[in-house]
Amino acid sequence: MVQFICTATRRPQSGKEIKGSLGNLQMKKEIGLHKEKKRAARRHGRLAAAGVILLAVAGILQLAARKTAGFGEWYAVHVYHWIVEIYGRICGIFPVSVVEILLYIGIIWLILYTASHIRRAAVHEGTAASEAGAWFSTVCFLLGLLAFLYTACCGVNYYRRPFSSYLELEVRESPVEELIALCEFLTEKVNETVDSTPYSQAWNAEGRRAMAGLAETCPQLSGYYPRPKPLLIPWILSVQQLSGIYSPFTVEANYNRAMTDYNIPHTICHELSHLRGFMREDEANFIGYLACIGSADPSFRYSGYLTGWVYAGNALAAQDLETYSELYTRLNEQTRADLADNNAFWNRYEGKAAEVANQMNDTYLKINSQPDGVRSYGRMVDLMLAYYREQERE
Ligand SMILES: [Zn+2]
Repeated sequence: MVQFICTATRRPQSGKEIKGSLGNLQMKKEIGLHKEKKRAARRHGRLAAAGVILLAVAGILQLAARKTAGFGEWYAVHVYHWIVEIYGRICGIFPVSVVEILLYIGIIWLILYTASHIRRAAVHEGTAASEAGAWFSTVCFLLGLLAFLYTACCGVNYYRRPFSSYLELEVRESPVEELIALCEFLTEKVNETVDSTPYSQAWNAEGRRAMAGLAETCPQLSGYYPRPKPLLIPWILSVQQLSGIYSPFTVEANYNRAMTDYNIPHTICHELSHLRGFMREDEANFIGYLACIGSADPSFRYSGYLTGWVYAGNALAAQDLETYSELYTRLNEQTRADLADNNAFWNRYEGKAAEVANQMNDTYLKINSQPDGVRSYGRMVDLMLAYYREQERE
């Protein structure tokens, strides 16, 4: 008789032995769980530590920029330039705004992630602390990452040399006569360049060309320009009364494609100026103006002159309303329709959200050492006056 010997076969166990081995199994399971908990705690600790390190690096960069003369300029030229070349190029591959997509995904993910931790803490007794730890470590890491990207791709650049210093413009208080002369010049130019071409995606490429064209005379603006991107849901910007936004997290120039067409080319160039490392609003406005008026595209030239007219006109209206009104009547019919359309568009979005967004933008600019806050956009007029004086002299 062949006897099969099976190595897996074991002798029958007594009731006492079974109870003992079950106890062992339970103990092993508990030890395993304990080890897994420890591993998870270490993982969360490392994640939180990475977040704190990123936050510390951001803080050191901010301090260096604020306290060390010349650091901001050195950083913009030698470090930030390469960030645009590499990181900006990668995000630029995507035809849609990466930051916008990440924003939507991020909101949904955060809600689901938070809900899953709450659920686990409710189902498994005694896990509330570890679930909360996991949640906090992830959020700490993400905040550190955002703070680092913000500082590395934007925050330090607030402390670089002003653009006007490269052009050696004499920026000073100007008598009202000079402002009137500038407004008259702009009125003529607006009437000369008036254009009714509707918005097209081709403006993205032209924006890059216009900036590259300006870089021929201002080498500080040279370098790679990723494609500007219209937001898929422009409403997000409209309710904040924003025509565009630069995303330091993805090095992207985003704009509001829903607003009146004449605003779009200048906004594209304004945001590309931020992307080039010129963060001050008056300077981005001025660079956008110069890029637009030097463009080969009529829509860009019109956008540049009309935006310049609006800012200079507002400054004039505050000092001499009568002359402003007279200049307004000299504008051609289409431009007056464009301005009315623009006002109607933004009026639709006036309200609490716009007020809060404006206050937030004001605070943000002041935190970044722009004491005039949102009023700094209007300082573009001082730069236009200085530039106009210089052009008149030549
Ligand atoms: Zn801006």
